[in-house]
Amino acid sequence: MNKKNYIFLNFLILTSAIFAQNKTKFSAEIATWYYDKPGAVSISFDDASYTQYEFAYPILEQYGFKATFSLVGTWTHEKATYSAEPGYFEIKKMGWQEIKELHDKGHEIAAHGYKHIRYKKYASVQKLAKQMKQVKDLIENHIQSPVYTLHYPYSFTSDSIVAASKRAGFLFGRTGNDAINPVTPANMHLLESKAIINNHNPDETQFKKWLNQAKGKWLILMYHHLFPDDSKEMEILRYHKVTHTYSLLPDTFQKQMQALSGQNAWVAPIATVGKYVVEREHTKIKLRKFCHKLYIKTATNLDTTVYNQPLTIKVKLPWKKVKIRKGKESYMYNVKNQTLFLDILPNSKIIIKKLK
Ligand SMILES: [Zn+2]
Repeated sequence: MNKKNYIFLNFLILTSAIFAQNKTKFSAEIATWYYDKPGAVSISFDDASYTQYEFAYPILEQYGFKATFSLVGTWTHEKATYSAEPGYFEIKKMGWQEIKELHDKGHEIAAHGYKHIRYKKYASVQKLAKQMKQVKDLIENHIQSPVYTLHYPYSFTSDSIVAASKRAGFLFGRTGNDAINPVTPANMHLLESKAIINNHNPDETQFKKWLNQAKGKWLILMYHHLFPDDSKEMEILRYHKVTHTYSLLPDTFQKQMQALSGQNAWVAPIATVGKYVVEREHTKIKLRKFCHKLYIKTATNLDTTVYNQPLTIKVKLPWKKVKIRKGKESYMYNVKNQTLFLDILPNSKIIIKKLK
């Protein structure tokens, strides 16, 4: 073979390889979790204990974690006040001032009952929904924002309680059960959580084990109080030999959040993760290639005024340099490993243009 023919043959092989690549290498799919993270973790709090505001909130902010805080209607006043559940000592609870601050900082505010009592197991769905709506309306009037999540008082549920939470307009209901939610929970109104029982349960090893088990899944942590060791509350609990204190030291909480930050998990409030999961299951991607442009469309029949959490789309393409157009904004991007991760809302579109 002379040199000229050799070069020509080489060119043919090269171009056909590129064409083959063009046929097979374009794809787009919704990442299982936001940013294609390996799993999701939600940090949830019950009872709106003032210690959550005092100790947990600054630690959460330090790590950039946004959590879900649930409150009881009759326990919440303008300013922080003391209240007690029957047969228990008084604990300081957050007021609307603290609640609004948390909400302004991007934390989710959830409902935990108008009163801190179990919903009646056999009451009619209609009656239960009315009771649940009462606390939902109360919070929404104060924070001027929709409330999507209900933490069932005492994590107590029944078929009618679960059905009522849906009827009342909640999108997500959190219970106990000491389990981790699968990638797509069977019932969004019956989400499982793992409770922090006291300062040693879970211990450091157990907590890390939970985080490892959460890979590919959705772990919801349930916290209550963060009483310091020398507080009068801890003194009372020790005096009465209470083992299930539902309290941990601020230091331990800090260590747990540090362990979580080392996990690369997607840490987000219950409603944020929940919306992502629902959207992921009810959104279709349409991919179309025309010359040097790739058109990606997301289509859903969900109400996008509610389901407004951006989805992460994993796009495979053989282009090195692209221009991405999303609505009015556009930007250049250097593609690495033939993979692009893009944020896109349901019912919207993105155009990717190949650049030389
Ligand atoms: Zn509670």
